[in-house]
Amino acid sequence: MGKEKTYLGVPVYRPRVAFFEFTSCEGCQLQILNREESLLDFLNLVEIVDFREAMTEGSDDYEIAFVEGCISRDDEVVRLQEIRQRAKVLVALGSCACFGGVNQLKNRFLDQGWVHRQVYGEYPIASLPVRSLADIVTVDVSIFGCPIKKEEVEKIVTNIALGKSIVHPKYPVCMECQANENICLFDLGEPCLGPVTRAGCDSWCPNNRAGCWGCRGPADDADPQRLKAIMVKHGFSLETIIDRLDCFGGFVRESARLRDELENVGQTGSVDPGGGI
Ligand code: SF4
Ligand code: SF4
Ligand code: SF4
Repeated sequence: MGKEKTYLGVPVYRPRVAFFEFTSCEGCQLQILNREESLLDFLNLVEIVDFREAMTEGSDDYEIAFVEGCISRDDEVVRLQEIRQRAKVLVALGSCACFGGVNQLKNRFLDQGWVHRQVYGEYPIASLPVRSLADIVTVDVSIFGCPIKKEEVEKIVTNIALGKSIVHPKYPVCMECQANENICLFDLGEPCLGPVTRAGCDSWCPNNRAGCWGCRGPADDADPQRLKAIMVKHGFSLETIIDRLDCFGGFVRESARLRDELENVGQTGSVDPGGGI
């Protein structure tokens, strides 16, 4: 894909980028290839040298590595470390790479042997507890979401190419949701993690009348007590809140705090409704 681009005869700098996948559904890479209307613009921004889902050529000479997926095998650890050594910038692409994603749900089972037998039967397939990329190597940039939004990737690639800083929204999904004039899902009887989840998806799920499951992880000032207060006020249990927080792996601390409370409820028999709404 790599003919030199020029503008008024002057070569235009395009970073050499590569895409790699580990344990994942490859949906984030598919997002890059989707949106044909912007694909050519994207290819003008970068020189893609390795992208198994889209091309047969490959190369070890790249500056930016986009890495999708979590790590669940020993050979993946070695391959990730090699990619880290070659790349100037390593970008974690999507919730699996950033937090373990839906794959990390398996870590919550005490009997990992049972999980293995349910999925693989007696086949001798190696499958370790799931880890995020940052558990193993240094991650320079994270792009959140399950799946990621291509517009966000394009903006981040442009910023990297131009040496500009990358700033994620600090505020929660609720801000985008209200700007989009949606009816709040709590008023329709549905739970939603919008109050604590980092914005940037343009409130993708609530726009389609579905509650947020927190795939982008916590907003900067995420307050699980405030979320709990809203949930309890609308009749949802601590278990419902914890189930949602656990889904993508981005709310490990918040979920653990509420789990502690749940244990106390088991002992005292009552839920503290919290405050702040
Ligand atoms: S983050 Fe979601 S869409 Fe992306 S690879 Fe993981 S499961 Fe697939
Ligand atoms: S639907 Fe969800 S994201 Fe939208 S305002 Fe209500 S709680 Fe916030
Ligand atoms: S609304 Fe929530 S679950 Fe849906 S895409 Fe946005 S952050 Fe992810």
